[in-house]
Parts: sequence; C-alpha cells; structure tokens
Amino acid sequence: MIDTHVAVIGAGPCGLGCLRELDRLGMHDVVVLEAASGPGGLASSVTDEQGFTWDRGGHVVFSHHGEFDRLLTDVLGDEVLHHDRSSWVLADGSWVPYPFQNNLHRLEPDTALECLVGLIEAEGATAHADFESWIRATFGPGVARHFMIPYNEKVWATAPSTMGSGWIAERVSTTDWRKVLASALSGTDDLGWGPNNRFAFPRRGRHRRDLAQGRRALLRVDPLRQRRRVDRRDRR
Ligand SMILES: Cc1cc2nc3c(=O)[nH]c(=O)nc-3n(C[C@H](O)[C@H](O)[C@H](O)COP(=O)(O)OP(=O)(O)OC[C@H]3O[C@@H](n4cnc5c(N)ncnc54)[C@H](O)[C@@H]3O)c2cc1C
Repeated sequence: MIDTHVAVIGAGPCGLGCLRELDRLGMHDVVVLEAASGPGGLASSVTDEQGFTWDRGGHVVFSHHGEFDRLLTDVLGDEVLHHDRSSWVLADGSWVPYPFQNNLHRLEPDTALECLVGLIEAEGATAHADFESWIRATFGPGVARHFMIPYNEKVWATAPSTMGSGWIAERVSTTDWRKVLASALSGTDDLGWGPNNRFAFPRRGRHRRDLAQGRRALLRVDPLRQRRRVDRRDRR
C-alpha cells in the first residue's frame, strides 16, 4: 500500500502532463503508479534485437496549441526535430501523395476519371451517418473504392460501416472538387492539407526515454513507481 496526498495512475502523456502541472502548482507529495516497466504509455517506443525502434502508438507529434508547443520545447529543448510530411499511397500502380482525394491527377486516367466524376456527383454527407455512408456521400464511389474504404478498414481494423463519422473533423480532408479539378488540369500536387503536414519527433533515441529524461529535468522529485498496476484505492 502507498500512502500519498496525490496518486497519478499511469505514466502516459496524460499522467506525465498532470504530474508536471502539479509540480508547477507546488504539489510535491505525488506518486505516479505505472503498470508497465517504464513511462510513455502508448507514446513510447521499443527497440528490437536488430536495433530498430518501433513506436507503440504515437509516431508524429503535432498540435495547433501554443501551450503544447511550448511544453514540447520545455521538455525536449533542442532534442526535437521538425519534419515535412512525405506520405504516399500506392493505388492501382500509381503513387499518390496524401491526401489521396486531393491528388487524383496522379492516378491512371481511367481511375482518375472515375474518382473525379464520383467526387463531383457526390451528394454530400448528412450528420450522424456511419463512416462508410459518410465516405460514399462525401467522396463518391471511386475514391471510396480505390482508397477511403480499404485504407480506413486497415487503419482502424474495423469495418467503416460499423464506425460513426462524428470524429473525422480535422482528420479527413473533405476536399472541394473544383480544387481537385484545377490541380488535375495543372498537374500540381496539393501536399499542404492537414494538421500534421509538419510534425515533430525526438531527435534521437526513443520517445519513452526522452519523455522520461524530460520528466526528471522538470521535476524536483522522481515520483515514478514502475510495475505498479493499480487495482484498488482507499480514499480516506
Ligand atoms: C496505433 C496508434 C497510433 C497513434 N499515433 C499517434 C500519433 O502519431 N500522434 C499522436 O499525437 N498520438 C497518436 N496516438 C495517440 C496517443 O498514443 C495517445 O493519445 C496517448 O498515448 C494517450 O495518452 P494517455 O496518457 O491518455 O494514455 P496511454 O498512452 O494509454 O497511457 C496510459 C498509461 O497508464 C498505464 N496504466 C493503465 N492502467 C493502469 C493501472 N490500473 N495501474 C497503473 N498504470 C496503468 C498504462 O500502462 C500506460 O502507461 C496513437 C495511438 C495509437 C494506438
């Protein structure tokens, strides 16, 4: 049993952020109880026997919030690099830069025509549609068949027809067909879309280690207790 004023459960990004805020507020009687053997949660990485590093979850860091960006600089200092996204889709033998639906001119002419006509004729999605219906209504059958449905099924390991569409907000580009047509006629790529067209990543090593080092640098105490899964609490 651990007796403490404040217990933070989990040393993922949220737990570490909470810890930092508590420290800033002058609360130091804090422990962080982490079930795994180190901090980072899904934002950590593992290195295999060949020396390759694999991110468990988070592989790019991006935000629109100055507060978060300042926090990243505080935690990692110069140990962070910024990259321009270079992300490509191989569809029917053509390499298409992300977002696929903005760059249809990269496809073979027949496929490009099918996707473009579908995009122009798309009826537009209504609220509360399931994700597959939302895709078909927003992009038409061509983009749905050649990219959106197989891609999202793979990413989420779930049939889009069983997912909602309320989350897509800034994660799926709902392009205007006029813009796509203009880029098709001029043969120009549209690469700038999205919240993560430029993203950060630690310069060296693993997310987990860098997060852990940042945490130690920021806090006066090292409150992390590893391999401590919380299964009950007593709030006396
Ligand atoms: C495949 C994938 C890709 C992703 N890609 C990105 C990306 O590119 N960029 C991005 O910003 N985000 C990405 N994310 C999301 C990001 O990883 C999460 O938003 C973030 O890790 C959530 O932080 P968290 O602290 O809430 O939870 P977690 O990271 O899940 O941390 C929770 C921690 O709590 C511990 N814990 C749980 N239960 C207990 C218990 N009972 N007792 C003690 N400890 C416990 C866990 O061991 C873990 O360390 C991705 C996620 C996934 C799955």
